[in-house]
Amino acid sequence: MLSDSLSHLRSAIRDVPDFPKPGILFKDITPVLADSSLMQLAIDGMIEPFAGQQVDKVVGIDARGFIFGAMIAQRLGAGFIPVRKKGKLPWKTRGLDYSLEYGTNSVEMHIDALAPGDRVLLADDLLATGGTAGAALKLIQDSGATLLGSTFFIELDFLEGRQKIDHTGPIHSLINF
Ligand code: AMP
Repeated sequence: MLSDSLSHLRSAIRDVPDFPKPGILFKDITPVLADSSLMQLAIDGMIEPFAGQQVDKVVGIDARGFIFGAMIAQRLGAGFIPVRKKGKLPWKTRGLDYSLEYGTNSVEMHIDALAPGDRVLLADDLLATGGTAGAALKLIQDSGATLLGSTFFIELDFLEGRQKIDHTGPIHSLINF
């Protein structure tokens, strides 16, 4: 992607200090969501390494990963699968507990959301410590689906999340801090 486009995207991300807890510098992506041409750039950049591949399902993580994931799924002609916080999905689920940058969490996916052999891309807004993505990846692996890779709008490099996730395929992030 052109460096001009990347710097437009980067400068639209708003830093919010001490949210949701003291010491966390929250990356607020709502100004990007609010701008249709920036969103177009973000989705273009996030799918770049996977364009031309057959993707059956895009798994997006609650809650901002739903926005990016659903748009990516539409663009790739794939279905969208939500990984949600515990207790939110109505049907039978498989779930996993994990720790994240600010607290602990638990995520779930419907047991019949993915079938063995499905070619899957994971999408989320931000890779921090890697706990959330790691848990979602485990749920994908447990379903017997094939993981093609992961794509993030933002990666916080200093947290080294990518070292912590057990992964096949590329881990792609568009904007790095
Ligand atoms: P982690 O499990 O630590 O990789 O955290 C990733 C998840 O938490 C993502 O779904 C993000 O939406 C959210 N998150 C973690 N840290 C931040 C941050 N500094 N700014 C915005 N979102 C964050």
